Amino acid sequence: MDKTAKQDNSKAASIADCAPSNFIRNIIAEDLQANKNEGRVHTRFPPEPNGYLHIGHAKSIWLNFGLAAEFGGLCNLRFDDTNPSKEEVEYVESIKSDVRWLGFDWGDREYYASDYFSQLYEYAVQLIKKGKAYVCDLSADEIREYRGTLTEPGRNSPYRERPVAENLDLFSRMRAGEFPDGSRTLRAKIDMASPNLNMRDPVMYRILHATHHRTGGRWCIYPTYDFAHGQSDSIEGITHSICTLEFEDHRPLYDWFLDELGIHHPQQIEFARLNLTHTVLSKRKLLELVQQGHVAGWDDPRMPTVAGFRRRGYTPESIRNFCERIGVAKRNSIVDIAMLEHCLREDLNRHAPRVMAVLRPLRVVITNYPDGQVEELDAINNPEDPGMGTRKVPFSRVIYIDQEDFREDPPKQFYRLAPDREVRLRYAYIIKCVDVVKDPATGAVTELRCTYDPETRSGSARSSRKVKATLHWVSAAHAIEAEVRLYDHLFRKEDPEEVEEGGGWTSNLNPLSLEKLTSCRAEPFLARAAPGNSYQFERLGYFCVDPDSAGGRVVFNRTVGLRDTWAKIERAQKKA
Ligand code: ATP
Ligand code: MG
Repeated sequence: MDKTAKQDNSKAASIADCAPSNFIRNIIAEDLQANKNEGRVHTRFPPEPNGYLHIGHAKSIWLNFGLAAEFGGLCNLRFDDTNPSKEEVEYVESIKSDVRWLGFDWGDREYYASDYFSQLYEYAVQLIKKGKAYVCDLSADEIREYRGTLTEPGRNSPYRERPVAENLDLFSRMRAGEFPDGSRTLRAKIDMASPNLNMRDPVMYRILHATHHRTGGRWCIYPTYDFAHGQSDSIEGITHSICTLEFEDHRPLYDWFLDELGIHHPQQIEFARLNLTHTVLSKRKLLELVQQGHVAGWDDPRMPTVAGFRRRGYTPESIRNFCERIGVAKRNSIVDIAMLEHCLREDLNRHAPRVMAVLRPLRVVITNYPDGQVEELDAINNPEDPGMGTRKVPFSRVIYIDQEDFREDPPKQFYRLAPDREVRLRYAYIIKCVDVVKDPATGAVTELRCTYDPETRSGSARSSRKVKATLHWVSAAHAIEAEVRLYDHLFRKEDPEEVEEGGGWTSNLNPLSLEKLTSCRAEPFLARAAPGNSYQFERLGYFCVDPDSAGGRVVFNRTVGLRDTWAKIERAQKKA
């Protein structure tokens, strides 16, 4: 094979070689040793159904389901659906299919925070009766104003000392729908001077006359995430409530609720969110990309969503493997996306059949090859796995090679085809370029005339004659037409949040993140390719059949390239 088209994952590999740490695994192992929770391990993955899952969620899924499986425990899927205005059934369905695709199973334990609305209401009443919660008539703005800042304590609400009976009456009338949205809230009575802002009488319930995707119009008051989350974990008997670092400051509040209610107390453990270079991982921002049409949808192959990765051709194995390798940390950091690509290549290298396709066809006529003759050459499907067998590739007088593989005036270190130069055609013969045909108007090269050496057929006695490059090709008469979509990073900058003055994060979008090539040719073997199938196009990278394929026209997504060091040399040359 051409030496210029080799994989180079050395950077990613060096990260992978450090043993991944997983401190949560150690905590659970110690808890089991001490027979905490009677030896039970029960985790949950708690998405809010307000968007599609992204690779950060995949990490949380891998962690929660993975740890439960490892320790013989259980993991629930629980939708934290406390915000009716942003939630949709479409998201619930996409989340379920993504979790399944990643290879995890919640059995019959599919729960919803909304299933607990009655119980949560009862908990709130209990706290009111204990004098630990009160109905407050301040508006949202006033509450914010009373809250104080990190350096200044808050002020007590004028409604803080309402008698219990009045609070009970008002709360039940809130529920009955007597008051308009935003006119009242139920707040926990904790400490307006606490250094932790979350403890300054946080809101537990708000009035919202909205239709919920599951409870319909039954409720017009909804618990806040902070009041619902810990109690939902408790109701489900969760032992280890694993969440991301931003909830560390909420833990004292969750502890306070559980202790005041005197109910089962899961142990909350925080870990660092996954961040990836060249992408954003926030549902709000991903939604903006979809709504503003920067991408074609949640499953656009450039999106860092699970659906996007799937469509792009990522495998669940590669994503799980990536999660294991990056480990679980307590400090936020950014992982190089090259690491994820490394895990992907490793998997595809073993499992994807290798085929030949030409992205930008250049016609080559082999003048001394008999017209009308067709040879069926043997090609190996995957040298990494002899069990994947061989196939036949037709060879004939007119073939296509990639335009990139020919230079009329080759620079140093360009070993591919050039006038009077020989290269090998993969699985076929050595050819020599004897003439270059050009468009008289534009001067563009439109065709090459070559001769072949009949003695050099691959596998024959003289096939070992050395030439410097081997090219991929397809037989013009036999190839299928295909569209290939090439992707680059969605954002130009490693950190999309790093913006020039005046620009928003979307100003860092990469305008060249998608290139569609519509006149590609692939060997006939690929006529049978079905959506989701992955292949290595020899020397070009890994490609996956897109669901847009229709009516015999195959559309491929480039999943990831094989890194081409020639491109690097070329860039250096351009600079020089
Ligand atoms: P986003 O900030 O992207 O909108 P979120 O945290 O609001 O995400 P949830 O639906 O609440 O989204 O997340 C479900 C679970 O996934 C939570 O336990 C959350 O901590 C975890 N999670 C979300 N983003 C990441 C991430 N980048 N890395 C690891 N875990 C994550
Ligand atoms: Mg969240």
